[in-house]
This record gives sequence, structure tokens and C-alpha cells, in this order.
Amino acid sequence: MNLSSSEIRRLLTTSDPTAFDELAAEARRLRDAVYGRRVFMRGLIEVSNHCRNNCLYCGIRRDARCRRYRLSVEQIMECCRVGYGLGFRTFVLQGGEDGWFSDEVVCGLVREMKVQYPDCAVTLSLGERGRESFARLREAGADRYLLRHETADARHYAMLHPAEMSFTHRMECLHDLRELGYQVGAGFMVGSPGQTVETLLEDLAFIADFRPEMVGIGPFIPADGTPFEHEPAGSVEATLRLLAIIRILHPQVLLPATTALGTLHPTGRERAVEAGANVVMPNLSPQDTRALYSIYNNKLATGSEAAESVADLRLRMQAIGYEVPVDRGDFKT
Ligand code: SAM
Repeated sequence: MNLSSSEIRRLLTTSDPTAFDELAAEARRLRDAVYGRRVFMRGLIEVSNHCRNNCLYCGIRRDARCRRYRLSVEQIMECCRVGYGLGFRTFVLQGGEDGWFSDEVVCGLVREMKVQYPDCAVTLSLGERGRESFARLREAGADRYLLRHETADARHYAMLHPAEMSFTHRMECLHDLRELGYQVGAGFMVGSPGQTVETLLEDLAFIADFRPEMVGIGPFIPADGTPFEHEPAGSVEATLRLLAIIRILHPQVLLPATTALGTLHPTGRERAVEAGANVVMPNLSPQDTRALYSIYNNKLATGSEAAESVADLRLRMQAIGYEVPVDRGDFKT
């Protein structure tokens, strides 16, 4: 299926349910041809909710009056120990832009993870940093970096972020990461305030051109205490359509069924896999900090969103015909 931009526009706006069924079937076919019926898991460790940025949508933005925490190096290593035992072979360190996580600290952590778990991939998602910093982290052994581009439209970017944040810099970071040899993850929220079909077409054009190894998309969900707290959430249906379209545009992509989707719909994750997703990222953070990483309201951190429920996750995936291997789940070229 070759998707022109007028076809994508029609798919994003049609109310004909059979259009989605065909799209999802094609997305599954392409994904299965590259990766088989396998869904890869990553253990998500939310290392800190301190953040120097003030993104208008985010519940842990600088001005949010949430209780702040950060994990110690020992706590993070303990999460890895537990996760390894549960079968995780990728660890994702994600957090707000917290200056405590200096290059020295993060390099030390990455080295230790690589010594203790040489068969695991280390993914970082710590926001924007300088090229030198990305280079040091890569030299220390980091394999992948997730940095959603948030929107490929500079005017829309300026509606979602304060003036001190730069669209150009975010895009530069993605290019630096690619040049430094990381497997790169980009992505955006679906239904964020100000998003239009035109901005989505730009996102899709960016993905088709940059071809990130991973694309994280999930519905926007309002967060209390933010400028967007009264804005409506993005829709599950629109997210599923976009997952299928992204799979068709970029068949090799690693495509997570995100927590935000699971938060809005009890079987959101299964529906995402049936629309072409092939990654799940259960939460490996210490249980007492999960509720504090409140980037949006009612974020799921229990049930099969929780790493300790891997058996439940496996059963749920098996029920729809997928296996969840003990595997790093690298990008296939
Ligand atoms: N600070 C890092 C960064 O900027 O990439 C990683 C943490 S940041 C909280 C991770 C992602 O959460 C963002 O890229 C954004 O797309 C998503 N996010 C933040 N607020 C959200 C909301 N209200 N609804 C849905 N997703 C949200």
C-alpha cells in the first residue's frame, strides 16, 4: 500500500470503519514480515521528575506543584536487577531534564549497566543535551535515545512550549543522535492542543524522511495544574490510525503501544498491537515513585503496565496471537 498525502488525509478524516480495518491489516502484514508476531518489551525506569523545562502540556513541568523525587544510582541498579530477573533485556532511563543527571553520573550508570548486563540494551530518554554530552553517553555504552520531536511544525511547537525552548534545537538533537550512532526514537502526542491534519501530515513526512528507529506516539492527556488542564484528551481511534499509517510508511520501525493509550482504554495496548505496534514498555520504577511521575492525569502504573506483571502481559499478548520474547528487540535494517 503506497500512501500519498491525499490518501493519508482521507484516512485521518474518514468515518468509514472499513478504511481502518484495511489499514490495520496492511500494518500487521508489514510488521509481521519484518519482526514476526513478536512484541518486544522494555523496562521503563523513571529516574526523576525534576525538570528545568516548562512544556505547557506536561504535569512535571518546572512550574508544576508536584512532589519531586529522583532515584539514586543504587535504586536504578536495583530496578535493573529486578527487571533482568523478569526477562527485560532493554532498560530505558527516562526523566525530566534534571541537572543532577550530569554526564559523569549518567556515564557511570551506563557503564555499570553494561558491565552487569552486557546482553542488554541501554536506552536513554533524558531530554535535550549538547552534542558533546550525547557523544560521551554514547561512548559510555548507551545504545538508543528517545527524544520525541513533539511536532514537526515550528508554529505548533511554539504553541506547546514556552519561548525559551527551541524547535530548531530539538531537531538538531535528533540529527546529532543519529550521527553519533544511536538508534533514535522520535514521536509526538496525538490530539495535543493546536494539532491539525496539516501538522500531522508534517509529522508523518518527517518520520518518512528521517526514518527514526523508534516512534513513540500516544494520545495527549490533560495534566492538572498545567495551562492545558482543561483541554480535551486525544482520541484512541486517531492514535490507532496513526500507528497503522506510521507502520505502513516505515515498516521496520519499532512502534510502542504506549502507556497513554493503555490509560485511556483498558485494551488500548492490545488494540495498538493489532494496528501495527510491536513494543511495550512496562514500568520498572520503584512502586512508591510511580505515582509521582505524573506527566498526565491517572497515568497507569499497575496491572500489565507494571513490570512485575510480565506474566499477565505475556498472557494478554498470547491471547491475541503474539509472543513476548526475552530479547533486546533491536531495529532490523
Ligand atoms: N524530558 C524528556 C524529554 O523531553 O524527552 C523525557 C520525559 S518527557 C515527560 C516524555 C514524553 O512525555 C514527552 O516527550 C511527551 O510527548 C510526553 N508527555 C508529556 N506530557 C504529556 C501529556 N500531558 N499527555 C501525553 N503525553 C505527555
